[in-house]
Amino acid sequence: MTNKKFTKPWHGIPREEIPWFPTLNEEKCIGCELCYLSCGRNVFEVAAQKPRKAKVANPLNCMVGCSTCATVCPTEAISFPGREIIWKLERQHKIFKIVHEEAAAKKEKLKLTELKEAAEEQISETVTRKHFEIAGQFGEKRFLKKLSDLIENEKADIVDLQLKVPTLKGMKENAPGFMRFTLTSTKMEEIKTQAGKIRELIKENNMVLVNET
Ligand code: SF4
Ligand code: SF4
Repeated sequence: MTNKKFTKPWHGIPREEIPWFPTLNEEKCIGCELCYLSCGRNVFEVAAQKPRKAKVANPLNCMVGCSTCATVCPTEAISFPGREIIWKLERQHKIFKIVHEEAAAKKEKLKLTELKEAAEEQISETVTRKHFEIAGQFGEKRFLKKLSDLIENEKADIVDLQLKVPTLKGMKENAPGFMRFTLTSTKMEEIKTQAGKIRELIKENNMVLVNET
């Protein structure tokens, strides 16, 4: 399939005016499909049935100056014109002014890509959060201690923690209470890991996870 992306002018020279594409000697071809696989521009087709032979289906898709397929072909079934035709075209069409402009555009694009990547990295570093609401017996702050141990050596932290118990004496006597807090980290992965551990802790302590958002 001829692809317009591949057949656009080569540094200002219409692609149709450049006779650079592979020529295939069908007799030498053993149908190994290396050319088909090595070419990223869909220049070749290879018949599925025997006798399996490669065919140059889209010659103008070929990248001017490339000869990879000829290099990898095990039977030297692929050939190209001499490189002088390219050098001649470069001189005739004085392509270097265009080449410099294209190089400048490429550098600009690269710079923009780098800026975009840096911005994306910064976004991924922003704080992420998960809110938990738990009900159960908090008996003498044992659960709170375990929660604190859980994140002690981790990057994640717990903020906005609120513990509501009916009475302090009641808490000691295992009266049910209510806790809410927010798990924070700069990495989403860290949030996922620590949230999993908190869920385990809730389960182990026979607490009820009322809400997780
Ligand atoms: S690499 Fe050579 S032998 Fe293999 S399919 Fe292509 S042309 Fe034929
Ligand atoms: S020279 Fe390169 S672009 Fe052209 S057909 Fe061979 S592998 Fe594809």
